[in-house]
Amino acid sequence: MAKILRGATAQETHSAILDLIRSSGTVTRVDLADRSGLTGASISRVVKRLLADGLIIETGYGDPTGGKRATLLQFNPRARHAIGIAVDTPSTTYVVTDMSGRVIEQVSSRGIGKDAPATAVQRITAELEDLIVKAEIEPSTLVGVGVALAGRQGRGGTRLLRTDSEKYAWEPFAVRDTLKDAIDHPIVVENDSTCAAIGEFWAGKIPSVNDFATVYMAAGFGLGLVTNGDVYRGSSSNVGEIGHMVLDVNGPQCWCGGQGCLESLAAPAAVVARAGQDETLADKLGLRGRRLSTRSDFAKIARLAAAGDPRCVELIEESATYLAKALLSITNLLDLNQIILAGPGFSEAGDIYVRVAAQELNRLSFVRAMHPTRVELSKLGPSAAALGAASLVLHTQLTPHQNTRS
Ligand SMILES: [Zn+2]
Repeated sequence: MAKILRGATAQETHSAILDLIRSSGTVTRVDLADRSGLTGASISRVVKRLLADGLIIETGYGDPTGGKRATLLQFNPRARHAIGIAVDTPSTTYVVTDMSGRVIEQVSSRGIGKDAPATAVQRITAELEDLIVKAEIEPSTLVGVGVALAGRQGRGGTRLLRTDSEKYAWEPFAVRDTLKDAIDHPIVVENDSTCAAIGEFWAGKIPSVNDFATVYMAAGFGLGLVTNGDVYRGSSSNVGEIGHMVLDVNGPQCWCGGQGCLESLAAPAAVVARAGQDETLADKLGLRGRRLSTRSDFAKIARLAAAGDPRCVELIEESATYLAKALLSITNLLDLNQIILAGPGFSEAGDIYVRVAAQELNRLSFVRAMHPTRVELSKLGPSAAALGAASLVLHTQLTPHQNTRS
């Protein structure tokens, strides 16, 4: 902490002390001075400001030390709010959270489907305004809106790549800039897998000493990394494209231009395509086989696999095995001890993916003799990306001492 605060701006100091109070539960001014390395006078000044802003509250007295009982300070989660939006092809999910990441309101609407980008953004903006009214939050308490998107980010504003319908339909569209013009609140746009990772960190309350990765599955796969309590963004926020890790040099053509990528072998579209080659299964499941029905077709297969249907178990295990191989390489590369599987792709048969990946890592991880690598399902459910987008707003707005690179 003292190292973080050396040379910090006033805003960074305030946010670091706020973060210390948040992660401590209750704490006294003396504790804060001890733990931050700041003087008592500086702490008093910062605390006074945080109390005036309503970000913390005084909550009784601690044990007497040397006579006088010190006032306990506590984080006030209801003082500010954040909104997270996960934009996806089949559905758009909105969450309103307080500062602790607790969900106050959650709604879903139809996804972007085949909408032109400008039409979709207009609808999202209108739905956002309705949500603020429905959640009954004071607009002045809203610190910002986070938007989780699939796809690539470009230099001229974030661009969305719609991976499970017309491939490049949104690619030249500057989503972030358009939203910034349309929405009267600070906007943070990030890829959905990074959002899911930061959601685990905030809402899942993972301690900042734990480095971990989140694999997010929707149309494809993405990997979000949290190290030292911050997200790793790479050089252009395009980090974690695990979906385009090559697993078979002679494998099928991938839309990215490569061959044998994880996505082309194991994503929902690949599983549905394999199921479609089995006429009996395709009839049994009523597979529609159209691009826009890929996710609902995949959900049917995954649901039957979870219920024990042998052919569907086989298909999901095949997808899970490819993912497990990719996770093995990632684990060996990064020496991870925790991997969380998140997103709508794991909703129905997540347990099978966890089982297959855990077996593979226990059996073959390079560091298996030193420590295990735990694989678990996200507790945040299918709205992990929306919740993560809201968490990212809190993370960016309230803890700028952690965001010096962003
Ligand atoms: Zn690829």
